[in-house]
Amino acid sequence: MIPMVDLKKQFQEIKDEVFEVITKILESSQYILGPHVSAFERQVADYHSVLEAIGVASCTDALHLSIDALGIGKGDEVITTPFTFFATAEAILYTGAQPVFVDIDPDTFNIDVTQLEEKITEKTKAILPVHLFGHMADMEKISGIAKKYGLKVIEDCAQSFGAELNGKKAGSFGDTGCFSFYPSKNLGGYGDGGLIILKDSVMADTIRKLRNHGSGRSYIHERIGVNSRLDEIQAGILLVKLKRIDDYNRKRRQKAALYNELLSDKVKCPVEKTGAYHVYHQYTIISQRRDEIQKRLKENGFSSVVYYPVPLHLQEALTFLGYKQGDFPVAEKAAREVLSLPMYPELEESAIIKIAEIIRDVV
Ligand SMILES: *Cc1c(COP(=O)(O)O)cnc(C)c1O
Repeated sequence: MIPMVDLKKQFQEIKDEVFEVITKILESSQYILGPHVSAFERQVADYHSVLEAIGVASCTDALHLSIDALGIGKGDEVITTPFTFFATAEAILYTGAQPVFVDIDPDTFNIDVTQLEEKITEKTKAILPVHLFGHMADMEKISGIAKKYGLKVIEDCAQSFGAELNGKKAGSFGDTGCFSFYPSKNLGGYGDGGLIILKDSVMADTIRKLRNHGSGRSYIHERIGVNSRLDEIQAGILLVKLKRIDDYNRKRRQKAALYNELLSDKVKCPVEKTGAYHVYHQYTIISQRRDEIQKRLKENGFSSVVYYPVPLHLQEALTFLGYKQGDFPVAEKAAREVLSLPMYPELEESAIIKIAEIIRDVV
């Protein structure tokens, strides 16, 4: 079976370096908030040309702590997309704030900036765009709207490490950029992990305390925080992979180009907007025969996954928000027609050719 992501191949290539760094950490016996976390934070901040980076336990926490540190909570509204992983809305709700959804752009699956302004109310405090599948949301428009209404911007970059818009990296536009190192993400560790980048050192100081029980000095607690730290072993592994991320993303783009070449006359392929640098965390096609394609791929030994079959406004856990079927037709149509195909830097061209043949045959 060809999987969606093959982490085994990649591990074989970096195995020696990974073992070396893990051994060093185990021998040092410093496992929490040590030199590897600091080095990784420094390198990720430099990579994004921002001042601050803070390792946390997950992107869910990165989003939660960002919203919290911006002083957003009960009674406030945060505008976001209904077509994303559940954690995006969950993080807003953890703070007591309410997610307000805006439909998506049918080409990029990202929040539709032309419908955003009409959702702004007196309670709106922030916009939380998601750079879905590795293609950035229209951050220039979003930053403009945020500025006009005095709103904060929190970027969900869980699927977009290294993605760019007009030469500027995902996460470096907003007040904070939130990353996930869940193993299957385009920069993934070997367990859970996350990180926040930002420019404001005062806010960074607040978040550093929040991630560590509201404490800046041992056993002195200034406020209620959480336990959410990136651990040394994950940071060590991520340092090995960070060196290669541009190369990994380049290879994803090559695979995507081949898929495009073989499929674009038969199904709707991912769009790369002018000025965007897509990192293809997912390669996602649109077809009305989606279910048939998926079935045939499976019969022939190829994985494929529907990200996401149920948009957030129709999730059972969020019924209390009061949305209904038909509220976001573009997101609902996407949920019925999208299919993500195997995509990873080591994916063989021969597999792409076979997958394309099967899809062409069905369509
Ligand atoms: C994976 C993901 C998250 C959550 O990341 P974790 O590190 O698993 O908490 C949030 N948002 C999006 C868009 C994601 O894909």
